[in-house]
Amino acid sequence: MTDQTNLFATAQQQLDEAASVIALDAAAHQLLRWPLRELHVTLPVKMDNGTTQIFHGFRVQHNDARGPNKGGIRFHPDETIDTIRALAAWMTWKTALLDIPLGGGKGGIICNPKTMSSGELERLSRAYIRQLGSFLGPDKDIPAPDVYTSPQIMAWMLDEYSTMQGKNKFGVITGKPLALGGSAGRGDATARGGIFCIREAADTLGLNLAGARAAIQGYGNAGSFAHKLCVELLGMKVVALSDSKGSIYNPEGFLYPALLAHKQQTGSVTGFPGAEVISDSELLKLEVTVLFPAALESVITAKNAPDIRAKIIAELANGATTPEADTILHHNGVYLIPDLLCNAGGVTVSWFEMVQNAYGYYWQEEEVHQHLEKKMKAAFHSMQQAAQTRKVHNRMAAYIVAIERVAEAMKLRGWY
Ligand code: NAD
Repeated sequence: MTDQTNLFATAQQQLDEAASVIALDAAAHQLLRWPLRELHVTLPVKMDNGTTQIFHGFRVQHNDARGPNKGGIRFHPDETIDTIRALAAWMTWKTALLDIPLGGGKGGIICNPKTMSSGELERLSRAYIRQLGSFLGPDKDIPAPDVYTSPQIMAWMLDEYSTMQGKNKFGVITGKPLALGGSAGRGDATARGGIFCIREAADTLGLNLAGARAAIQGYGNAGSFAHKLCVELLGMKVVALSDSKGSIYNPEGFLYPALLAHKQQTGSVTGFPGAEVISDSELLKLEVTVLFPAALESVITAKNAPDIRAKIIAELANGATTPEADTILHHNGVYLIPDLLCNAGGVTVSWFEMVQNAYGYYWQEEEVHQHLEKKMKAAFHSMQQAAQTRKVHNRMAAYIVAIERVAEAMKLRGWY
């Protein structure tokens, strides 16, 4: 793997650049470059055909100076410890930027969930929790769903953990089904948080969003809700969409219910009646007001950044833009809402879920939206203020706010 695709190298480079701008204490900097703890686990799982298959997994706790570690669990055949390290570090920065009293964690299992039965997935999920049990807890480390893990998987994990503890521990995991202590409003929280940021960015830039054009790369949880809420809350036209099978374009804009029904029936956005087929790279270069990368890492690079014509990039995907591309976009006047802020709605509502679990009282969806909007706006303006004061681009500003908060907590705790 080259440094360009090694996400942990990217995360360390981003930290190094921000640390140099704020002249961060050398010991604090070194401490923040690495996870505080990592656990590698080996999991024997009985498969439906009677054999036992051995899986490998990880849990990384990057930094818990401000509170227990928080972060999702991914099931993916190409999972690597470095991807998990980068994502755990980004969780530390995200929770600090949002001023949530949590740290940063992430976990993963190398497996292909698409080829596994429900029973095999349940046994794998329970085996992971049995190995990690002493590493987790509402005041230690709280997992959540991520790539290819679901509320059902969270329910199995919660059950295994509670069985090990001999009591119900709903707060050990978030993204649970509503019937098991999940929060209203978690489903669309990531996209909704991004939409709140776009509204603030448009105000800052003096842009009118009503009728303006948007393009979305990726049509999973983040991308499909971004489509819905772009239309419903911002009155925008979503003119281009994509998923792993291809990209489509319609200058009149795609209607959300029709597109969703098509995706549910056919498994893809491609082949939607009346849509023009475009390439993935054309989608990224369209002249739109908002471009949402909502699929993969490292899609905006030094190669295509000079051709990006969007006014705002709303990074719902983690790690969508490389550090070299950041500089180019900033130079070209593209307003970037970085992943640390743009997709933090998910972890923010996860924190609301923990709060509701802790006091055993559950909020209405409207209340969740209101609390989320307040947190997202506050974080947006902290970033904006740091960008102006320090004269840096938004990602650097977001890093600076987050690093200063984590460094202050580490200093107060006597870690350096
Ligand atoms: P998902 O698995 O639900 O959806 C991913 C989508 O990307 C799918 O539609 C897939 O077809 C599409 N895709 C894959 N390869 C593609 C390609 N080459 N071109 C275009 N589309 C492609 O995942 P998600 O939960 O929506 O997450 C998407 C991104 O958002 C990830 O980076 C994830 O880390 C980030 N994120 C998600 C959440 C959340 O709450 N869902 C929270 C924070 C960050």
